Amino acid sequence: MFTAARLGLRVNSSSSSVIIRRSLAATVKATTLAGEEAYEAAIKPTRAIPKLTDVLIVGGGPAGLTLAAGIKTSPELSNLSTVLVDAGDLQNKVGSFYHKPPEWYTNRVVSLTPKSLHFLEDRIGVKLMNERIQPYDGLYITDGCSNGTLDLEKDSMLYMVEILNIQSSLLNKISQMSFARESLNILDKVKVESIEYTNPTDPTSWPIVTLSNGEVYKTRLLVGADGFNSPVRKFSNLYSRGWAYNTYGLVATMKLKYQPFKIRGWQRFLPTGPIAHLPLPGDNATLVWSTGGESLSKLLLSIKPEQFAILVNAAFVLDDIDMQYYYKKLHDNAITTEELQKDVDCRIEQVFESKGIDKMDDTFIDEHYPPIVSEIIDNTRARFPLRYSHADKYVTDRIALVGDAAHTTHPLAGQGLNMGQGDVESLVNTLEKATLRGLDIGSLLALEPFWAERYPFNNVRLGMADKLHKLYHTSWSPIVGLRTLGINLTNKFDPVKDGIIDTLAGGQFNAD
Ligand SMILES: Cc1cc2nc3c(=O)[nH]c(=O)nc-3n(C[C@H](O)[C@H](O)[C@H](O)COP(=O)(O)OP(=O)(O)OC[C@H]3O[C@@H](n4cnc5c(N)ncnc54)[C@H](O)[C@@H]3O)c2cc1C
Repeated sequence: MFTAARLGLRVNSSSSSVIIRRSLAATVKATTLAGEEAYEAAIKPTRAIPKLTDVLIVGGGPAGLTLAAGIKTSPELSNLSTVLVDAGDLQNKVGSFYHKPPEWYTNRVVSLTPKSLHFLEDRIGVKLMNERIQPYDGLYITDGCSNGTLDLEKDSMLYMVEILNIQSSLLNKISQMSFARESLNILDKVKVESIEYTNPTDPTSWPIVTLSNGEVYKTRLLVGADGFNSPVRKFSNLYSRGWAYNTYGLVATMKLKYQPFKIRGWQRFLPTGPIAHLPLPGDNATLVWSTGGESLSKLLLSIKPEQFAILVNAAFVLDDIDMQYYYKKLHDNAITTEELQKDVDCRIEQVFESKGIDKMDDTFIDEHYPPIVSEIIDNTRARFPLRYSHADKYVTDRIALVGDAAHTTHPLAGQGLNMGQGDVESLVNTLEKATLRGLDIGSLLALEPFWAERYPFNNVRLGMADKLHKLYHTSWSPIVGLRTLGINLTNKFDPVKDGIIDTLAGGQFNAD
């Protein structure tokens, strides 16, 4: 258990439960509670007596922890007794990252918008590990089947941040907060085992959540921040629609041959999916390579790190036909690392020659191709299945969904967690308004404005990433011709480019 005391908070478990009861007593009709407890006692005589809480958050990923910190730092909400439950090891694996970060960069890195960062730093007051964050000044996007190019330039357009940086900084913030009148209980290495309504025939009754450590909670509001397989969403019957992309996002941490002079992200759309080379501080970078079906991702995970680095460099210059040749050779174990390096160097030189690029013209090459990868950091290659999903609603009586529990997207537009952070901000605002108006924070009436605000916004971004994936997932020449015309025209019109930059960056550069 990751109690307030273990986090260094100034409450112990006994005082926190007193605080929970006091907080609830102030807001809940005694008659309702008495009736529900009597009902429970009658039907479930053997179950542990549920502890009461105002909010129970399932999931200590970035969305869940942001919500817990958002509630506790809100003057209107800080009195709400809050419990956060996560199956993972938040204390040892996540919390310690803040004080003892590794020398290398971890492989789960997200591109955060200025808006998401503003919410974390300025509204919640999180002190992120800034030395591990890399702002970058634009994205250089190319079509692997043509000369289509989109050069988006904007100072500090986006920020590369490790997910562990976000989570551990939030835990650090929580540990430094003073909880004189309220409580927050963080339970890690604990799974949600079952959820049921207090009265199974009344979906407005408080959910009862049974945990793997034997504890049982009865909550006014249950929040699913529990990722794509969300047990809370399944319990809620909120329907989620979507599809798997039959592709994996392969990630890795990379060392570069030299520190880039221009700090930007690079993305090239290959017929197998986009490959993105994104900056980290110094001579470091991170990779997200969408690899098409199962076999390519397996191959890329199994080859030697040196071979993988050579392929990353090749993928930003060579044609798909060359890449397919190397995949086959590596699959058949028919090429050594030295032969691969020599062959790739030779073909890259041929491409430069055919385009009239002087291979000694570093300035031109640095302007159009990402910095060369010299090394892949050990054990940082991993793959994640990619899918589109969107819940039809994010709220029902007593339940709200945020983050990946509500939606998942292809990472090509870097929107997944940014949408999740937007959900959390909106939910905090909605709960504040409900509290100020004296509403029950678990009621549908109180929660509806949250999903009404978030659904259309997220739907546009989810649709955009999905359409881009489909548009670029083909090498059929009529489509390639049309999209090349479109991207090259877009590249010439600054107002259109500004619109794209604004959308990708969350619609807010100088948030106040
Ligand atoms: C390759 C890749 C690249 C990406 N790049 C970007 C990017 O550049 N920008 C961006 O914004 N987004 C990006 N994303 C998306 C982003 O990573 C996710 O949107 C984000 O991590 C989801 O956070 P979350 O807190 O909603 O869910 P999760 O991180 O999935 O957290 C869910 C938590 O719930 C817990 N949980 C689940 N079930 C239970 C249970 N039964 N009991 C207890 N606990 C439970 C889990 O332990 C977990 O900690 C990327 C995703 C991928 C795969």
